[in-house]
Amino acid sequence: MRRKIVAGNWKMNGSKDLVQQLVGVICDHAGSLDTGAEVVIIPPAPYIPLVQQQADGKLALGVQNVSEWQSGAYTGEISADMAKDLGCWYVLVGHSERRQLFGETDEVVARKVGRVLESGLTAVLCVGETLEQREAGEAVGVVAGQVRQGLSAVSADQWSRVVVAYEPVWAIGTGKTATAEDAQAMHAEIRKMLASMNAPAEEISVLYGGSVKADNAAALFSEPDIDGGLIGGASLKADEFVSICRAFPVGA
Ligand code: PEP
Repeated sequence: MRRKIVAGNWKMNGSKDLVQQLVGVICDHAGSLDTGAEVVIIPPAPYIPLVQQQADGKLALGVQNVSEWQSGAYTGEISADMAKDLGCWYVLVGHSERRQLFGETDEVVARKVGRVLESGLTAVLCVGETLEQREAGEAVGVVAGQVRQGLSAVSADQWSRVVVAYEPVWAIGTGKTATAEDAQAMHAEIRKMLASMNAPAEEISVLYGGSVKADNAAALFSEPDIDGGLIGGASLKADEFVSICRAFPVGA
């Protein structure tokens, strides 16, 4: 179902102290928004129970990655079923850091999407082009390949649990954000790609990620095809993250 979402990806940051500092403030100021936007915290896996305890049902939870395998002798891996067992709803799949630093290919990403959906969780497929690809005029083609391959095995009854996050690699953690117009243009393309796959494109949330901050979130979130954000660095600062969560246009 298409809904507004702000998801904070803590990456490999945090501590028990940070959970105590952040989560209560986020719950108090963004736990129940007039806009109906869903706020999701995606901490490192060991902190999930603590975040859950602090959030007391006011925030949704996600994990940053799961294994492509279901269970067994895969030391260090976390399964989608385990994420579900811990009370998570969302799983990031194919974040550019996983693709670049851990060699995740579109085939691996597609298998992980399959696992997540089989477990009954929602897959947040992350896609995005590098600066070189954008400058070569390849951005739409690259993103189309990632969307088509990453979601190639989604069945008709699973689309309601698919979210796409457009995260241009050149904007992640760099302080450079796509303009609202450029992001909107790619989001509209992503919706066309989804429609061409017989997905219910108008029902799928498409989030923007890449140096979203309190001062640029409102412009991004007011675009018609941008349904919210995947937030990295700014999700570790309570005030900044709360402002982002509250940046949806009133009455939207
Ligand atoms: C991310 O990690 O998904 C991200 C968008 O990071 P940042 O907001 O720091 O650019």
